[in-house]
Amino acid sequence: MADAPTPAHRALEVIIVGAGFGGLAAAIELRRRGFEHVRILEAAPELGGTWFHNDYPGAACDVASHLYSFSYAQRRDWSRLCSPQGEILRYVREVAHDFGVDGLVETGTEVTSCAWDDQGHRWSVATADGRTLRADALVLATGQLHQPSFPRIRGAEAFTGHTFHSARWDHDYDLRGKRVAVIGTGASAVQFVPAIAEQVRRLVVFQRTGNWFMPRRNRPYPRVLKEIIRRVPGVQAFRRRFFFNYCESVTALIRHPATLGRIGQARSALFMRSQLSDPEVRRKAWPDFTFGCKRVLFSSSFLPALQRDNVDLVTDAVAGMAADGVVTSDGTLHEVDCVIYATGFKTNDFMFPMQITGADGRSLREDWAQGAHAHLGITVPGYPSMFVMYGPNTNTSGGSIILYLEAQARYLAQALATVRDRGAAAIDVRPEVEAAADRALQARFPGTAWTRCDSWYRDADAGGRIVANWPGYMREYLAATERLDPDEYELIAR
Ligand code: NAP
Repeated sequence: MADAPTPAHRALEVIIVGAGFGGLAAAIELRRRGFEHVRILEAAPELGGTWFHNDYPGAACDVASHLYSFSYAQRRDWSRLCSPQGEILRYVREVAHDFGVDGLVETGTEVTSCAWDDQGHRWSVATADGRTLRADALVLATGQLHQPSFPRIRGAEAFTGHTFHSARWDHDYDLRGKRVAVIGTGASAVQFVPAIAEQVRRLVVFQRTGNWFMPRRNRPYPRVLKEIIRRVPGVQAFRRRFFFNYCESVTALIRHPATLGRIGQARSALFMRSQLSDPEVRRKAWPDFTFGCKRVLFSSSFLPALQRDNVDLVTDAVAGMAADGVVTSDGTLHEVDCVIYATGFKTNDFMFPMQITGADGRSLREDWAQGAHAHLGITVPGYPSMFVMYGPNTNTSGGSIILYLEAQARYLAQALATVRDRGAAAIDVRPEVEAAADRALQARFPGTAWTRCDSWYRDADAGGRIVANWPGYMREYLAATERLDPDEYELIAR
C-alpha cells in the first residue's frame, strides 16, 4: 500500500492543537494512514472541545445525532434525535478511546505560538508552560467557536453581582431565587433560557436582534423507535441519509432566499405565530432580516419561556452597567443579581491569539488582515504542512460539521502521506491556486441569504467578507476534498 511507511522515509511527527471533534478526527485519520508520531495538545483539562466547555443547562446539538457523528463510529442507541451535551461528550470520549487516540492527548497544555523554521523545515510549537515542541506538520483544530466573546459594555466593572459566560457556565452559582439577566439570544441562550426560567425569580432577556425559529421538541425516543433503530438493519443508515438530505434542503433555502427561502420563512412565521400569543412579545421577538441570514434557531420552548410571568424580553440596547444591574438606552436600570453573557464567540479569530509564523517570517494575523482564507478552509500558502480544521469558510448553516471535519482529516492525511511517500520535507498550497479557489468561493455568496444581514459569519474588520461559512452544500465540500490534487501543491524538498 502506497501509504505504508517505509524505512526510507523518516517518520513524520505531527502536532495537533485541540482535542475536540476536529483534532480527534485528524488523529484518527493519521493513525489510520500509519502516522505513529502524533500528539494532541489541549488547553482544557479534558478532551471534548466545545462539548467539554459548553455544558450550560439544556445544552444539546440541533443536528440529528445520526448525522452529528463520525461515519465510522455510528451509534444505534442515541437517546433522542438531537443528543444532549453529556451524551455527545460521552460519545467523543468513547470514540477517542475506541480508536486509540485518547492516549495521544496532553491536556492542560496551552499553545501560545507556532513558527515554521525555514532551514529545519519543521514547526516549533511553544506552550504556555515554557516548553518548545517540534514537529514536521501542524494541525490547528481549535475551531471557530472556542473563545467566548464578551461585549464591551460601559461600566461593566462597576457591576457588583455575579457574571459568567454561557460557554463557561458557573455550576457553583445557584440561580434559584435570583434575578438574572441574559445578554444575547443566539443558539446558546435559546437552549438555556427555558431551562433556567423555572428556577430563577426574575429573568431579563436582552435581545439585540430577533431570530427565525423552527420547531424542535426533541423528546426522548419512545422505546419502540429505539428498538427499531437498534435492531432493524438499515434503519440507522436510512435515518443518516434522510438527515443528510434534510440538511441539504436547509442549505437550499438559504442559497435561494427569493424562492425556496420564502417557503422556509413562511413556515417559520407560522410556527412563531403559533408560539407567540402575547402580541407585545411577538412584536419584540420578530426578526427583521431574511430567513437564513443568521442561524435559524430550532426550539419549541424558547418563545413560550419569554411569555412567562417571571421573564421580561428587553429590546432596548444595553447601554451600560451599574453596581446593581444593567442600564438600557432608555435609561432604565434593570436590577439583577447575576448577568449571563450569551454573546457567542470570537469567531473571526480562529486560532488567534496563538501567534502563527510561516515561511520567511510571515504572520498569519497579517496575512488574514483582510479576512481569513484558506484553500478548502484547510491550507494556507506560505504555511507549509500546516492544516486548519474547521477553518475559514467551512462552517455550515444547514449541515453537520462532523462531516466537514471528517473530510478535512482525510484531506490532510492524504497531504502528509504525499510528503512521506515522496520523501519531501513539507507541502505548501500554491498561492495562485488558493487565490483562485477563494475568488470562486466568494463569488458564490451574492444572492444568498447570508449576504442580507450582519452575522458572526462575517468579518466586520474585512469589509463584511463572509469568512465562516461554506457557500454551498455538504456534498459539494465532500466532493471537493475527496482527493488532494498534488498539482495544487508544491512539495518542499529536504
Ligand atoms: P451567537 O449566535 O453569536 O449569539 C450571540 C448573541 O449575543 C446574539 O443574540 C447577539 O445579538 C448577542 N450579542 C452579542 N453582542 C451583544 C451586545 N453587545 N449587546 C446585546 N446583544 C449582543 O452565539 P451562541 O448563541 O453562543 O451561538 C454561536 C454558535 O454556536 C451558533 O451559531 C451555532 O453555530 C453554535 N451553537 C450550536 C448549538 C446547537 O447545535 N444547538 C448551540 C449553541 C451554539 P445579534 O444577533 O444582534 O448579534
